[in-house]
Amino acid sequence: MPYLSLVIPVYNEEENLPLLFDAVTDAMKSLKKTWEVIFIDDGSRDKSLEVLRKLAQQDKHVRVVVFRRNFGQTAAIAAGIDYAKGEVIILLDADLQNDPADIPMLLSKLDEGYDVVSGWRKDRKDNLTRTLPSVMANSLISWVTGVHLHDYGCTLKAYRREVLDEFHLYGETHRFIPVFAHSVGARIAELPVHHHPRLHGKAKYGLERTMKVVLDLVTVKFLLSYGNKPIRLFGGTGIVLMFASLVTLAYLAARKILESTSVTASPLLPLAIMFLILGFQSILMGLIAELLVRTYHESQHKPTYTVRTVIEGKKERK
Ligand code: UDP
Ligand code: MG
Repeated sequence: MPYLSLVIPVYNEEENLPLLFDAVTDAMKSLKKTWEVIFIDDGSRDKSLEVLRKLAQQDKHVRVVVFRRNFGQTAAIAAGIDYAKGEVIILLDADLQNDPADIPMLLSKLDEGYDVVSGWRKDRKDNLTRTLPSVMANSLISWVTGVHLHDYGCTLKAYRREVLDEFHLYGETHRFIPVFAHSVGARIAELPVHHHPRLHGKAKYGLERTMKVVLDLVTVKFLLSYGNKPIRLFGGTGIVLMFASLVTLAYLAARKILESTSVTASPLLPLAIMFLILGFQSILMGLIAELLVRTYHESQHKPTYTVRTVIEGKKERK
């Protein structure tokens, strides 16, 4: 079993791969640890797969997981984590924008007692259309989730495998890995890392990503805050709506009694009825969600907590 697994998603990076692998081997030479690299070919259409095949034949440290089609960076990362054997996992991009030379630094920070060391592209080498939305997205994520990092989008981060085993990745949520890790109780540190401009190949994302990130953030926030107690959100909304409805109805009734104003002629009446129905529906939705939570945890035997160690006498076990 290697100590360290590097997980590298690859989508059309033929020119970068040999350079990247050289940089990785250089970085690993100075490090006195056992290691492996898992490349995930995410349905590349160029010669990436051929290059990876050659690397795997030349060097025993390399394993390649080949997807049947392009499933996206998050799926590639998830597969890499599944196939990785190391107790520490470091994610990085294949395009040489991350610098493998930073790996020893991340590992020694991890040894200070952290479960996640998050790379921060302090001096980022991308153009303004990328960096500006990214700065905004990062502060939004930091504010909404309460996990205070400067750079969620930087792939170069080190993780203890036991932390990554506590959750699954869906959709395009790899940037939220530190947030999920925090939610299962990981100790997180941040370190500035080097960043280089992309020299070969094309960036796979554009401005449209910001919108997707915001929607993903809504999901993540919901799951983290209410995933185990959805009735608090739906029921809370329902109570507010029903209360608003009752206040409106009381107002209409008071006007009828005091001023003999018609209730049915008022536009407030349908509004009050609508709030009442919506409020009731919302509470019912919360109850259904509560059933789903129970079904999930009980049928999958998923506990609703995470355990770091169990102490028995003088022994501690994971
Ligand atoms: N990538 C992938 N599948 C995709 C898109 C990207 O595996 O569908 C990989 C890509 O090859 C690179 C990393 O994810 O190694 C980050 O992609 P990119 O450099 O385009 O993103 P950026 O650095 O612009 O955020
Ligand atoms: Mg890149």
